[in-house]
Amino acid sequence: MHPNRALIGVPGGRADLATPALVLDLAVFGRNVATMAAATRASGLALRPHAKTHKCKAIAARQLAAGAIGLCVAKTGEAEALADTPGLRSLLVTSPVIGASALARLAGVAARVPELLVAVDSDAGARALSAAASAAGVRIGAVVDIDPGIHRTGVPGAEAAAALAKSVANLPGLWFAGLQCYAGHAQHIEDYAVRGEIAAMALADMATAAALLRADGLPPPLLTGGGTGTFAQEAGLGVLTELQAGSYIFMDVEYDAVALEAGGAGPFGAALFVDARVISANCADFVTVDAGYKAFATDGPKPKVAGGAPAGSEFAFMGDEHGAVFAALPLGALVRLQVPHCDPTVNLHDVIHVLDGDTLVDIWPVEGRGRSA
Ligand code: PLP
Ligand code: MN
Repeated sequence: MHPNRALIGVPGGRADLATPALVLDLAVFGRNVATMAAATRASGLALRPHAKTHKCKAIAARQLAAGAIGLCVAKTGEAEALADTPGLRSLLVTSPVIGASALARLAGVAARVPELLVAVDSDAGARALSAAASAAGVRIGAVVDIDPGIHRTGVPGAEAAAALAKSVANLPGLWFAGLQCYAGHAQHIEDYAVRGEIAAMALADMATAAALLRADGLPPPLLTGGGTGTFAQEAGLGVLTELQAGSYIFMDVEYDAVALEAGGAGPFGAALFVDARVISANCADFVTVDAGYKAFATDGPKPKVAGGAPAGSEFAFMGDEHGAVFAALPLGALVRLQVPHCDPTVNLHDVIHVLDGDTLVDIWPVEGRGRSA
């Protein structure tokens, strides 16, 4: 049993949490889920949130209950971990899956969900997916991934996308489910207008590919892409049929710097933090808390002090298990730190502590934690 489970429902129980604890502000999270559901509905887009962000069935189920038409995952292991999420009708794996054993496992997932869609960006990859689906007696929707210009995954350009779509449409065990283009390089561009231009450039190839396929009698059923940074602009472009945003549920220090709406911070609030505890206070300038490299992703900015210490207090990493908070605090004090980059931070924690104010109301397992294969 998780050591914090006994605190569920105890008023003010947060004070006794075993730390470091990944904590979710339930009220802010609930507003973020509802706000994105309403925003996509208002712009005529379906919402297929990316579950790589949270890897957690309890969160996925809430997104689906709020109107999401399905989920994205990045990896086969995440697909396995989240396949039996209540209310899940359609699951999209957004990266190509290569390798016979992973493909056999994917075919196993296809038998567990009403609809499994998988990104493909090569003829060879599509043929291997087709063989795995046929061998298992399942059908998988192939989504042709288009390179948005970062050369990470995706076919280069509209003609190549249309050609691959035609080829997957003829492969046994597969059907052509649509096109994907995710402009990852645009998401964190701070300037709203520049971010919109980059996203529009990326989606132009998708629009051309869709037009080519419509003219050839193979209209793409779905056009999927977009993230938290570009959702407002991409909704206005009229290319996508569905949005894959993930980080909007949590927000993180990285996204705090991004104006998500023209002239404004945007409608989402920070909901995910690590509560850390002061375990040593022997220095004049700072105290030492029990959260370091093992509690936060370190690819982005530093964690931001969001409570328990004077506003503007700085955090610095002091090693695997330790961090410095530059403030005068007593031993045992809790410091709330906003996570720097949400997706890889969640992947470091077994559970998410759900807080209503200072009361722990639930503990949600991160079922997909570490399931990167
Ligand atoms: N779609 C794909 C393919 C992604 O890789 C990601 C995140 O990296 C997302 C959607 C979600 O983006 P965000 O977390 O910025 O909302
Ligand atoms: Mn990310």
